[in-house]
Amino acid sequence: MVQIAIIGGGIGGLTAALALRQCGFEPEVFEQAPALLDVGAAIAIWPNAMRVLTRLNLAEKILEQAGVMDEIRWLDQHGRLINRVSIKDQRYPAIALHRADLQHTLLTALPASSIHLDSELVVKQILGQYRVKEPRLQSLHGQAVMLLNAVPTRTIRHIPRARNARADELANEALDAEGTSPPAG
Ligand SMILES: Cc1cc2nc3c(=O)[nH]c(=O)nc-3n(C[C@H](O)[C@H](O)[C@H](O)COP(=O)(O)OP(=O)(O)OC[C@H]3O[C@@H](n4cnc5c(N)ncnc54)[C@H](O)[C@@H]3O)c2cc1C
Repeated sequence: MVQIAIIGGGIGGLTAALALRQCGFEPEVFEQAPALLDVGAAIAIWPNAMRVLTRLNLAEKILEQAGVMDEIRWLDQHGRLINRVSIKDQRYPAIALHRADLQHTLLTALPASSIHLDSELVVKQILGQYRVKEPRLQSLHGQAVMLLNAVPTRTIRHIPRARNARADELANEALDAEGTSPPAG
């Protein structure tokens, strides 16, 4: 079985862990915070994200804690309507819920043993050294440092969304491929 470590137990990390489990992997999540607290406020989840959450069999549970949004309205300071945009989607709703409720739903859908709190991945590139806080991440630290050493200059490039349409296409193709069997371990 391929070993997968996900660094960060935010909404992205937890969702990735659930998706990987659905594909037959057993990823482990390493979160630097000692506890995942109820931080944040309301968060909007758009139809494309609800599509993913539906695929993860979490839509029903999330809808129990959420309000469905049919329309966004912009008002002026007197409450007069400036603009309105319908966000009704034929298949998946746009919803709003508390970020903590979303995080809790994702978290409880994963086995507790796969979440490691107080586990920080730290790579001190400047000194060419690394600090290990979580012994289970030791090999990962080593590999990260090797990678950093092998690539002396790295450029982080922002790809404008308009030019990144292929990524959207691939994501939609993957979601459309219902019934895909999990890869062999
Ligand atoms: C005010 C505000 C409102 C927003 N509203 C919306 C909205 O309505 N709808 C929407 O879709 N999005 C919204 N967003 C954006 C959304 O919150 C983020 O896109 C999303 O939370 C990103 O998730 P993430 O898991 O990538 O990152 P994060 O949620 O930031 O999680 C990253 C996690 O990684 C951990 N971590 C970081 N470094 C390390 C390390 N070295 N080792 C171990 N762990 C580490 C952190 O502690 C954290 O828990 C909003 C953002 C803000 C700030």
